[in-house]
Amino acid sequence: MIDYHVHERHSRDAAAAKISEYIVAAEGRGITEIAFTTHLITIGPDVDLSIREEEIPEYIKEIRIAQDGTRIKLLAGLEVDYFPSEERHLEAILKGNDFDFILGSTHYINGIDIGSQSQAESYFANRSITEAADEYYKVWKRAIESGLFDVMAHPDYWRKYLRFYGRSASWGDYGSVLYDALDAMADNNVGLEVNTAGKRAGTGNYYPIQEFLVAAHEAGVKVVTVGSDSHTAGTLGNHLEDAIRQLREASFTHMSTFKDRKNTRISIGDMLERTRTRAKLGV
Ligand SMILES: [Zn+2]
Ligand SMILES: [Zn+2]
Repeated sequence: MIDYHVHERHSRDAAAAKISEYIVAAEGRGITEIAFTTHLITIGPDVDLSIREEEIPEYIKEIRIAQDGTRIKLLAGLEVDYFPSEERHLEAILKGNDFDFILGSTHYINGIDIGSQSQAESYFANRSITEAADEYYKVWKRAIESGLFDVMAHPDYWRKYLRFYGRSASWGDYGSVLYDALDAMADNNVGLEVNTAGKRAGTGNYYPIQEFLVAAHEAGVKVVTVGSDSHTAGTLGNHLEDAIRQLREASFTHMSTFKDRKNTRISIGDMLERTRTRAKLGV
């Protein structure tokens, strides 16, 4: 099993999470690979949650040193907040450092933080969910086309707080811009993530919902990863086997691993088989 979305202490919302604790947790849970994806947020109100640019070399070095002491494969990555105005800046940071894997995220849409319970309400106010989703996927598509990212994180993150204002979204509400974004994803060989934190957040599903995965497969998206979005070692690997089963149900046969930002496809069937064997042997 592999976990491709993990925050350690350089994410200020995971300040207590140590790489060494994740390694111990991985050994205990049969997780063979961890991609550390600390937040990089270069502008906006949440820059304080981000790794500071000058800390990046030390962050990567810390992961490389930890690698020398374990058989768990450790990747140095980021979860980057995408802002259209920051493309050049982000490109310089990503090119200037030795990363293995880069997640792209859209937590902010046109100045509204949809990851904030208090702000998200205004994003949905006085319009249909479809209008809100279309606005989201316009930015998402631009992020895909920027060429900055390997995989897009939590593809329908916008629905995180909907239930708090008495709204809910089903597949029919996701709009049409999403289909253009999925075509762009396939054309640019960018991937999507199944992120199991959606269940922890109480949305009742992973990000994205199952119908989204089916549409992505039909659009020809080939690159998929799974991640727990852990901010503490306690949730490492959470529900990932189930997430991979959902990918299989959506007709995906392979998922991707990364090194030096190059991806390798691995068989989903083999991974589930190995995970089952390990569970049976109790190792
Ligand atoms: Zn995120
Ligand atoms: Zn995250």
